[in-house]
Amino acid sequence: MAIGANLTELGKSLILNLIGALLVFLAGVLFSDPIQRHVAQWRRRRAFRKQKPAFVRIFPIIFGAPFDQLTHLLLRQNRLQPFFQLEVIHWEAWRGHEAAEARLRALRTDSRLEFVEKFQAEMQAYNEASGAAENPINVAVTDLVFPKNFYCWNTRDRRGIVIGINSLHKLFREDPILVNKIILRIVQRMLLYSLGIDSLTAHQYTWGCLFDLTPILTDLQYSVDNTYLCKQCARAIESDRGMEFLDMAKVWVKGDTTA
Ligand SMILES: [Zn+2]
Repeated sequence: MAIGANLTELGKSLILNLIGALLVFLAGVLFSDPIQRHVAQWRRRRAFRKQKPAFVRIFPIIFGAPFDQLTHLLLRQNRLQPFFQLEVIHWEAWRGHEAAEARLRALRTDSRLEFVEKFQAEMQAYNEASGAAENPINVAVTDLVFPKNFYCWNTRDRRGIVIGINSLHKLFREDPILVNKIILRIVQRMLLYSLGIDSLTAHQYTWGCLFDLTPILTDLQYSVDNTYLCKQCARAIESDRGMEFLDMAKVWVKGDTTA
């Protein structure tokens, strides 16, 4: 009887061990890939987090509509990528804002570059007054009419950007959500562009690529939810910044802009 009982115990423990081993094996088969992928992704993110992100200041200058929804969308980008740290400036709370706006309103120019340089000068004046230690990338979002009815331009060094949403509102007035999404895409494009990545340029004819500057502005609405980085742009980013940077840029660009 004693031997029989021991055998039963032995059998039980054998079976339990086998089941345990089988479960570990199954878990390994089922979950090792996703777990490894997550660990790799987490490591990459941690490595990038150690690098300082580029600081970006968003200035709503001469901007009539409420900025709350757009602020939410813009600040959400901080959680979706490690390259940039966005901050939305309380422009109208600054006592210098009225004089700055008067100077910008008085501007008469057909030059998009001059238009952007004047905005950049005002944003830099704000930064100096606020004692910003970093040298941020400045992005103005404005209702002021853009030269040649354009909607976006940057300074020569690419660190001053103006998004003129007057043209966008004229085209998509009925849909402020769509306009916000388009602004967000422009911000993504211009920020990646501001990094000065070799051979990354705006192009046409790759419909839906973040850097595809479609000549027909209304086409933007079809690609805004399905944006990606085309092979040419992906190659340019990878050769300048490496595979991991490209991976994260792809995730950022692919991510939905609805929340
Ligand atoms: Zn492209």
